Amino acid sequence: MGSNALAEILAAVTPEQFASAVTRAADLLRAGEVVALPTETVYGLAANALDALAVSRIYEAKGRPANNPIIVHVADLAMAQSCVAAWPPAAARLAQALWPGPLTLVLPRSPAIPDIVAAGGPTVAVRWPRHPLMEAVIRKCGFPLAAPSANPSGRTSPTTARHVLQGLGQRIPLVIDGGPTPVGIESTVVDLSGVTPILLRPGMIHSAELEASLGMPIKRLATAATEGTLRSPGLLSKHYAPKARLILCGWRDEGDLDRLVKELVPAGVRCRILAHTAIPSGELASLTRLLSLDPHQFAQRIFAELHDCDTDNIGIILVEEIPSGSAWDGIRDRLQRAAHG
Ligand code: AMP
Ligand code: MG
Repeated sequence: MGSNALAEILAAVTPEQFASAVTRAADLLRAGEVVALPTETVYGLAANALDALAVSRIYEAKGRPANNPIIVHVADLAMAQSCVAAWPPAAARLAQALWPGPLTLVLPRSPAIPDIVAAGGPTVAVRWPRHPLMEAVIRKCGFPLAAPSANPSGRTSPTTARHVLQGLGQRIPLVIDGGPTPVGIESTVVDLSGVTPILLRPGMIHSAELEASLGMPIKRLATAATEGTLRSPGLLSKHYAPKARLILCGWRDEGDLDRLVKELVPAGVRCRILAHTAIPSGELASLTRLLSLDPHQFAQRIFAELHDCDTDNIGIILVEEIPSGSAWDGIRDRLQRAAHG
């Protein structure tokens, strides 16, 4: 920590590279260090979840506020159960249906999990990620890994090893490059510590899927718009923000978009348009990047587009309004937070 040397970056394309990346990562993690690793959602900055000093290095590297708890990653059910003090039927059902996958369960915390992981609270958030590298590293270590997204606190989560290097390259020893992450936004977080399941953070596993597996309705808690009044740990209002001002807006046609750009973008400020249905031509086309109409493909790309805006010194990002369906809930949440950031 604190050294200005750039992180080592290891590819994991061939089986030999994969094996040596896993060994190198596990060696550092056993020694109490932090390592950036790919998961299916975004890249995580991992440390031994059972070692408070190792976890403190995550907070230090990210500049993460101490009241924001960290998700603990496991690679089998027994390891998940070792992190919690209760395993209710709802947890068993969701784990059976959706693990490994982009779903985090908040449960009563086992005494094995240090305070720092849970920001001092009585619960712990646990997830079994679906990513061969992450799973192999956890199994090699034999202990669970605390891992928030591998970015400076408050900034856009990394979906490539290059994003990790740009944000934290001088603050961490190692990044394992597993290519672009397939899901692209952070996990769905469900609180199962009370009587009713509560959706704390929407993600690509949406409420209809959760309800189908649970066999009961799930309470929806946070939206970016109401979040200012929430006091739950870990639900910070300023989060996931690119450097630019982000505005969600719709336009009917070219002329309408042209008016919007003239009205919203001051002279000398660079603007980018992220469109997915209403695609401009002419001069506006040069400002525009196209995203998919499919929510999974949209989610997979959106953070890379926001990172590109940071690198290209964009001052204002106009994001075309996304559809209202629940498949878009996770994406809408991130865009709204980015807009309020
Ligand atoms: P990230 O920064 O993407 O790793 O996300 C971590 C998020 O997981 C936090 O911001 C919380 O929303 C959630 N989380 C982690 N631990 C807990 C917990 N014990 N209780 C409630 N939410 C949690
Ligand atoms: Mg994060």
